[in-house]
Amino acid sequence: MRVLFASSEVFPLVKTGGLADVSGALPGALREAGVDARILLPGYPAAMEKARKAKRVASLGDPLGIGAEAHLVAAELPGSRVPVWLIDCAPLYDRAGGPYQDAAGRDYEDNARRFGLLSWAAARLCTRDGPLKWRPDILHGNDWQAGLAPAYLRAWGEKATATVFTIHNMAYQGLFPKEILPELKLPWNLYRIDGLEYYDSVSFLKAGLVYSDRITTVSRRYAKEIQTAAFGCGMEGVLAHRAADLVGIVNGADYGVWNPGEDPHLSHRYAPGAYAEGKAANKAALQAELGLAPSPDAPLMVVVSRLNEQKGMDLILSDLPILLRGGAQLAVLGAGDHMLEDGFRTAAAKSPRQVAASIGYSEPLAHKLMAAGDMLLMPSRFEPCGLTQFYAYRYATVPVVHATGGLADTVVDATYDSLMTQTATGFVFEHANPGAFQWCVERALALFRNKEEWRTIQDTCVAQDFSWRRSAERYANLYNALVSEGAGENG
Ligand code: ADP
Repeated sequence: MRVLFASSEVFPLVKTGGLADVSGALPGALREAGVDARILLPGYPAAMEKARKAKRVASLGDPLGIGAEAHLVAAELPGSRVPVWLIDCAPLYDRAGGPYQDAAGRDYEDNARRFGLLSWAAARLCTRDGPLKWRPDILHGNDWQAGLAPAYLRAWGEKATATVFTIHNMAYQGLFPKEILPELKLPWNLYRIDGLEYYDSVSFLKAGLVYSDRITTVSRRYAKEIQTAAFGCGMEGVLAHRAADLVGIVNGADYGVWNPGEDPHLSHRYAPGAYAEGKAANKAALQAELGLAPSPDAPLMVVVSRLNEQKGMDLILSDLPILLRGGAQLAVLGAGDHMLEDGFRTAAAKSPRQVAASIGYSEPLAHKLMAAGDMLLMPSRFEPCGLTQFYAYRYATVPVVHATGGLADTVVDATYDSLMTQTATGFVFEHANPGAFQWCVERALALFRNKEEWRTIQDTCVAQDFSWRRSAERYANLYNALVSEGAGENG
């Protein structure tokens, strides 16, 4: 079983969020399950630098007429043997900013072409006259950036490869003016209501949803939620129509990267099962590093997140004065909306011994916060899966989450019953408003004072197994089912 995994970010080559973590871990887990999974991603400069054993292997020509030849560079994913192809096309990818936006946070104007080429190349590798000998049985595209790939296959009448499309976040849709269609070398006959047209624009996401053989998303709950108007971001109708082909497969955690016993970023490493001393040492180190009061008993709440409305960061700011009354501390690491960044900066300036705001992106600090924290706050308004709750579990940090998407599926609220049966793994609130969130955090803070019950929750957290193995098996089953149905000609 050969699978081409097309993604716009892959850890550790390039990362802005959870998609990179998934793309960096799932292909490796699939390979362990016997699937020949290989990755395709754009050749951003940072990714080209980090890729191991990189060498140019084929030309893609200039399919979208940008005036420069694109090449495929073959390499290995650092830290694993997973084969990677990077699309080397300097005019599109050699930029100073991030993968999607410039340094000032503005989307690149030519994102349609940048990710049109990713989609085109993914599709091209599936064709008989493609540039490589290796041809996939399954093309597995991720998020809108890879959404056009099955549309190209449809346009070219190519049926040899079956297609799977995974939604990691419905809110990002890749919408562009319809005039780009000829530039992307797609025929107008796909521009229709049951095609890639979306309210007079082209939607890369909708192309993925309409033209793929199967659709997956990253938790069971989110798979249901996105079929409703509240979470479907306008695509609920399309998804309801494809409900029979839509499944939720929960993400996993890469315990090779997130393991307090071998974490290179920690000053004090600790085995998950022997967390008490290790967490205390990391907490003291972090308090010193961030200038927080050096109190071992102050509950330390941590946040590692994009700072935006989706993540419910405004709820934290609204409740902060109340939550800090009893001496709790908050350490935030994140970047995003300037209003929220400023809000956390201001809170930290006002109470520097209780609040620390690290605005920006830092892999080492993310690990330190996970190890030092007592609670991880995730009040997301919606959350397709969420990964940081899994990392928190491994580090014996207790998540406080809104009951949505993957958070609802993977966190068990601490109630009288769940504490008695030792199944509680965190604190869950039903409604994303400041009152409900405050009450939930206060429940957590109250239980934190009861050392014995808190340890019971921590013990349950570290015993959770969200390794990729099980999820990779579910993907492998899905691929097998598709191929044996004959969705691809190779089946
Ligand atoms: P999303 O993909 O919606 O951002 P996830 O919870 O699925 O949310 O994944 C977020 C990933 O990004 C996690 O690995 C988290 O540690 C990481 N992350 C988010 N913000 C930062 C930051 N400012 N610095 C370092 N890592 C971050």
